Amino acid sequence: MEDAVNRAVVNQDSLFIAGGTNLVDRLKVFLDEPSELIDISRLQMQQISPMADGGIHLGALVTNTAVADHDQIRRNYPLLARAILSGASQQIRNMATVGGNLLQRTRCPYYYDTVFPCNKRQPGTGCPAITGINRGHAILGASEQCVAVHPSDMCVALAALDAVVEVASPQGQRRIPLVDFYRLPENTPQKDTNLEPGELITGIILPPLSFAKSGVYLKLRDRTSYAFALVSVAAAVDLAGEQIKDARLAMGGVAHKPWRATAAEEFLIGKPADIATFTQAAEIALQGAQPLAHNGYKIELVKRAIRRSLTVSAQGGGVV
Ligand code: SF4
Repeated sequence: MEDAVNRAVVNQDSLFIAGGTNLVDRLKVFLDEPSELIDISRLQMQQISPMADGGIHLGALVTNTAVADHDQIRRNYPLLARAILSGASQQIRNMATVGGNLLQRTRCPYYYDTVFPCNKRQPGTGCPAITGINRGHAILGASEQCVAVHPSDMCVALAALDAVVEVASPQGQRRIPLVDFYRLPENTPQKDTNLEPGELITGIILPPLSFAKSGVYLKLRDRTSYAFALVSVAAAVDLAGEQIKDARLAMGGVAHKPWRATAAEEFLIGKPADIATFTQAAEIALQGAQPLAHNGYKIELVKRAIRRSLTVSAQGGGVV
C-alpha cells in the first residue's frame, strides 16, 4: 500500500485502478487520460471484519457482491445490501469494489459526450445541462457551474448509516465521515470528493446502529434493473411504542452527493410514527429544492418515496 500511495504522490497525473467498472468506461472515451494507472487490486484490503464496538469494517477492495451477500450485513444493515443489489448487474457487482463505488463519477450524459462542453470535464467551458435536457439532474445543492447528481446507490445507504471513510497517504491515515467525503459542485465541479492528491481509500467503517435492522432502501427508476436512480431513499426508524426515538434518512438522485436529511431526522424524534409525521418530514427534507425545466417531478416523487420508506421501516422493515 505504501508503494501505491507514494507512487500516486510522485505522479499526480496517475490514477488507482481496482475493479475498473467505471474508470475503464471513462478511459475508453478519453474522459480520463492518466499518464499511469496504479493497479491496487491485489493489495490486502479484501476483508469484511467485525469491530470491537459491534460495527463492521469493509476493506476498500471488497467487492459489491461480497458486501451484499455477507450474513452480518444482510442481518444488521439490510438497507446496505438492498442498495447494492439494486445497482448495476451481477457481473458488474462481482468486479466493482467498495472503494471504487465511492469514486464512481456522475452519469450526466453531457459529461460523457465530449462533443458538448462540461465544467466537470473541463472547468470554465459551461454546463449545457442547465438549459438542456435535465430530467435526471439535481434539485438540491446544485450550482451555476454544475447540476449533476451522484450515481451510487450504496453511498446513499452509507450516508444514512453514518459510515466513515478511511484513507491513507504518505502522511498516515485519516477518517472522513462519508457525508463530508463528498463535495457540492459550487465553483469547482471537477472535484467530487475531499480526497487530497495521492490519498487512497483503504476501507469503510459501519458504526453499530441497532435499529439499522429495520432500515429500508427504495430506488425509483425508469426500468426495474440496470438503471440509475431517478430518486432513492435510505431510511431507518427506531420506535418506543408508537413514538419515534431516532431516525436516519438519506436521499439519492437529488444532488451532487448522497443527501442526508438531518433536519427531517431531528423533526421525527419524539413524534408519533404515522403518515402525518412522515408527510411533514418529507416536506422538511425537500425544503430548498430548486427544480430545473425537466426535473420538477423529482420533488413529489422523492417525498412519496420518503413517506413509503419511513412507513415500511416503522413497520419493521423489509422489501419496500
Ligand atoms: Fe457537466 Fe455537471 Fe453540467 Fe453535467 S451537470 S454537463 S457534469 S457541468
